[in-house]
Amino acid sequence: PAKEKEEAKIEGAIQIAIGVKKEVDFSTWYTNVLIKADMLDYYSVSGCYILKPWSYSIWEEIQSWFNTQIKELGVQNSYFPMFVSAKVLEREKDHIEGFSPEVAWVTRAGQSELEEPIAIRPTSETAMYPYYAKWIKSHRDLPLKLNQWNSVVRWEFKNPQPFLRTREFLWQEGHTAFLTKAEADTEVRQILELYRQVYEDLLAVPVIPGIKSEKEKFAGGLYTTTLEGFIPTSGRGIQAATSHCLGQNFSRPEMFNIFVEDPTGETKQKTYVWQNSWGLSTRTIGVMVMVHGDNQGLVLPPRVASVQVVVVPCGITAKTSDGQRAEINGACEELAKTLKKAGVRAKADLREGYTPGWKFNDWEQKGVPVRLEIGPNDLAKQQTLSVRRDTGEKTPLSLTDIGATIDALLKKIQSEMFERARDAYYSRLKEVTHWDDVVPTLDNKGIAVIPWCEVEACEDDIKERSGRSAEPQDERAPSAGAKSLAIPFDQSLWTPIEPGKTKCPACGKDAKRWTMFGRSY
Ligand code: AMP
Ligand code: ZN
Repeated sequence: PAKEKEEAKIEGAIQIAIGVKKEVDFSTWYTNVLIKADMLDYYSVSGCYILKPWSYSIWEEIQSWFNTQIKELGVQNSYFPMFVSAKVLEREKDHIEGFSPEVAWVTRAGQSELEEPIAIRPTSETAMYPYYAKWIKSHRDLPLKLNQWNSVVRWEFKNPQPFLRTREFLWQEGHTAFLTKAEADTEVRQILELYRQVYEDLLAVPVIPGIKSEKEKFAGGLYTTTLEGFIPTSGRGIQAATSHCLGQNFSRPEMFNIFVEDPTGETKQKTYVWQNSWGLSTRTIGVMVMVHGDNQGLVLPPRVASVQVVVVPCGITAKTSDGQRAEINGACEELAKTLKKAGVRAKADLREGYTPGWKFNDWEQKGVPVRLEIGPNDLAKQQTLSVRRDTGEKTPLSLTDIGATIDALLKKIQSEMFERARDAYYSRLKEVTHWDDVVPTLDNKGIAVIPWCEVEACEDDIKERSGRSAEPQDERAPSAGAKSLAIPFDQSLWTPIEPGKTKCPACGKDAKRWTMFGRSY
């Protein structure tokens, strides 16, 4: 009963702590979780946020894993300046058309107006490619594969959301150049696969790989491959990461003029290089929070948790002797040490002046995957009580061989978190072949997968018609109309399309491929 009382007290504290329930007021829940977990603070410039150590450490995990992988592919890191002259920024027409509403400009230094305003990069294609033209002289200079970890600025006017859509964000941008289209195509997919692993294996967040429609592809590119994520609570899709093939759009003579002489040497003809660019941003962290968090706060997948296990001493009361207190604290410290030796990121919380209940709540809000409790009884039995953050499941564990036990438990949590999230995502993918089912599917927080004609005008029409019935929204809020999210590479989930027979439910033309349409961030 004492334990129950303790739990009831914690329950009460939680309700005050997170403030609102995830299902009731999702956007307040989201920002509350970020603040309570100590991941983020607001900043004096709107749309910009401070990433505190608890979230930045996740970014570091992603960085270190991804860096290792791209280096295997022969990609090297480098750094280009954040400023771009107007002249080069505006060279590629489609590209600048896509980005210009969001470009921030420096117009003044101290008291003097600049003669020519200088742009802050929204992405670095145009900053880098004049130098690619300079450095690539012969086919022996290919492939050129550079990456940079930096921040970019996009002065977006849509509602900012921490991590998901911010005016300055951290990312990596890879920029590569090849002799042939085939090599570029291969790399586009290799990178997308690495991004899939970041989401699915590190963050336990399911994504669907596919290609973007012409309307949604990267401005100035040839085609865009994408990972589409999904937030079940809001029923909205989210572009998780993109890997673009730019084709020869940036290399052609009117643009950046990046070419090599024909490698056979026979014709002396110029071959314009084939280019890719690919980016993954701190949006990753926001998607992870939204997918896994619950009404107690953040839930971290073990692979990216900077603290995977917290050990909390329990059962210490005013009556506990100093000797016994020291013994319990010592056992906690010892356990954390043992776990660290086994490669587990463990920490003993021996802070004085806080009750175990307060500590439980604190670490739960911060999403630590496993809590281990040690009290006098556990000590006597040489065991510890483990509590899973994701399910709340409690299991006593023997201290013998605890390193291996915890290692296995963390792996199990990681894979079960992913499986639950994947089931939630896939259960909302609805095969829709009649127009009348599109809006109800969206209203039920689903994604309408339709056999689509792939005509751009049809996409505009779908967006307009599917947004019509919804109640009027703040124009900065995410749109109520559906846009195409991705044409999944794996079409096998849905009834095969019969060429010439299966029709697009929106316009009646011949359907080409199953395409995900949904509301999105
Ligand atoms: P893009 O260069 O537009 O393809 O962007 C690359 C990736 O960065 C996208 O796939 C998004 O996941 C992410 N991203 C785009 N805009 C933002 C933003 N404002 N804040 C955070 N992440 C973003
Ligand atoms: Zn159509």
